[in-house]
Amino acid sequence: MNDKFKLLQEIETEIKICTKCPLYKTSNCSVAGEGFYDAELVFIGEAPGASEDKTGKPFVGLAGKLLNKNLDSIKITRKDIWIGNIIKHRPPENRNPSIQEIKACETYLKRQLDIIKPKLIVTLGKFALNFFLPETVLSESHGKLLTKADLNIYPIYHPAAALRNGEFKKAFVQDFLQIPAIIETISSKNN
Ligand code: SF4
Repeated sequence: MNDKFKLLQEIETEIKICTKCPLYKTSNCSVAGEGFYDAELVFIGEAPGASEDKTGKPFVGLAGKLLNKNLDSIKITRKDIWIGNIIKHRPPENRNPSIQEIKACETYLKRQLDIIKPKLIVTLGKFALNFFLPETVLSESHGKLLTKADLNIYPIYHPAAALRNGEFKKAFVQDFLQIPAIIETISSKNN
């Protein structure tokens, strides 16, 4: 078995029995994240919603469908990417995660990214962006390539926000279309 795959599975097993914050008590199951263990492109959202909490899979509800549609538009499939959230259990009624919950959960995503070592991390929404860059404002920085240490971060709106607001949807679609060019830019810098 591939080492990266095995290490990611070990983290998933830890997440399933995690009690480091109260969210495990009110959710149905954990959603560790899924996809290609060696992906160069990773998408990170905020937390599981109702559909994710039912299935244990990330981005399977309406927001996930919009994400899939936009992946299609740049000819990338879910099999090519890895996708997960900063929070691994659903907050009740989809409320925002607290600072304490984000802090309690952060080790899992950091370890997952250390294993995958993606070329580009696309953050979906404010919480995912601020997980990496706490001071950065999404409305000013979406669609721009940012860096932190050795990470390349590309913030875009969350697909759930895009479903609620026409302006956000327009920006979401436009920013999404730039992803292949952003990956190309990173690749040429690395060569
Ligand atoms: S949300 Fe994260 S820290 Fe909280 S119980 Fe789940 S895995 Fe543990």
